[in-house]
Amino acid sequence: MKRSKRVFDKSKVNIFPFFVLIVVVVICYVCYIQFFKVPKFSLNSEDKISTAGFSAKLDSEDVSIESIEIFLIVNNDKKFLIYSKNKFDNSKSTHDLDVGFNENSEFIKYIKKAKDSELTLTYNVQYKNKFFNSELNDSYLISVDFEPPEISNIVTDGYVYLGGVGYIRLQSSLDVKKLYLDNGNGDLFYPISNKKNDVIEHLIFFTCSNRPCNQNKVKIYAEDFAKNSTVVYKKIRTIKNKKWPKYLIKIDRENFTDKYNEILNSNIQIINKNDFLRINKVERALNESKIKKLTTDISLKKYFKGQFNQLANSKVSSYFNEERSYYFSDSKDEIIDIQLHWGYDLSSTQNADVFPVNSGIVVHVDNSLGIYGSVVIIDHGLGFYSLYSHLDNIYVKKDEIVNKNTLIGLTGTTGMAFGDHLHLGIYLQGVPVDPVEFWDRKYLNLKIDEPYKIFSSKSSKVNN
Ligand SMILES: [Zn+2]
Repeated sequence: MKRSKRVFDKSKVNIFPFFVLIVVVVICYVCYIQFFKVPKFSLNSEDKISTAGFSAKLDSEDVSIESIEIFLIVNNDKKFLIYSKNKFDNSKSTHDLDVGFNENSEFIKYIKKAKDSELTLTYNVQYKNKFFNSELNDSYLISVDFEPPEISNIVTDGYVYLGGVGYIRLQSSLDVKKLYLDNGNGDLFYPISNKKNDVIEHLIFFTCSNRPCNQNKVKIYAEDFAKNSTVVYKKIRTIKNKKWPKYLIKIDRENFTDKYNEILNSNIQIINKNDFLRINKVERALNESKIKKLTTDISLKKYFKGQFNQLANSKVSSYFNEERSYYFSDSKDEIIDIQLHWGYDLSSTQNADVFPVNSGIVVHVDNSLGIYGSVVIIDHGLGFYSLYSHLDNIYVKKDEIVNKNTLIGLTGTTGMAFGDHLHLGIYLQGVPVDPVEFWDRKYLNLKIDEPYKIFSSKSSKVNN
């Protein structure tokens, strides 16, 4: 009895400091949540905005944003509400705010008249942390940047072959945040850039794909941090040195039914028109948009070197941009689908060895990329990619560094292939180009190697 009483006394003495400690910890935690877990607002262009608008960022780690209002105050006098938002996806911890100005807005009219006025940006953020509703207010001085970025010294040979690659070298002022080339056919191409003294050197590889460049010109767009923009057009002639083949293809119902069931993991008896469109049109479009995503990023390093190789001892069985019109044998008059072929089909012996066309890094390995079947995609750097499709075996892994002697797989009939062959695609920033230029040393030199050599020798002077 005596012993147990002593134990009880001891615990009674010790409980108070623990209690105090817990209270202190809780108070500290609440203070921490209240005073340290606050959102952070920042302009992407430091202290400048343009007459086109500006972009800003709201970091909101561990808090949820309820609303934000941004005001601009001119000369401590006139206040304009220029942005307000009260719906946020709070599963994200950063929010990009894009504030665009309408040319006819009150603020722009006012600021254009009073150019040298003092401008204050002020904002109010309503947010919630773990326990409380809070608000954040701040303001600081900013200026309006009326100057668009400069583009100069544009160099190009001024032409592309149909389906081929072209280049443009140019310089821009240092304030450029975004620069791209628009081929007018719906594709944008981004540059490889290097800072050199007080300018940025850019090299853009582009293609107008299977069409002439829209109105024989391309558009170069540059935007600075304050969102001012400059547009320059450059004349690019398209040389139509080839005629794209056109074929009528009779749909063999049995073969297509087998492929339908294999690719879509289905079990239909015999393919009808809608089934055919489901695989040849819908599935194809899904596969092609996936390939586009996988071949869009630009690796700034050039991995390829010298000649691009063709599949050894192979014959061309289909050309780039071949137009294929499909019909059922019982109704030849009705063309039910037309598709373009974004690569070369190369036939050799059955299960022939497939090697990369050039050095690079494997960025994608897929055993079932729809109608493309088993696929390997290799990044050659500078925005160029090659794709190997209908493979039987694949011997490489993602992120593997490969050269022209690395066995990557065997030709086969996976996906929508009816005879053993390799489908080879070459892509530039997600857009398919004709592989034929890559097999021609002269054009490869003219269009890619030489412009890159000049660009990198100019840029490397920066480091000396
Ligand atoms: Zn093919």
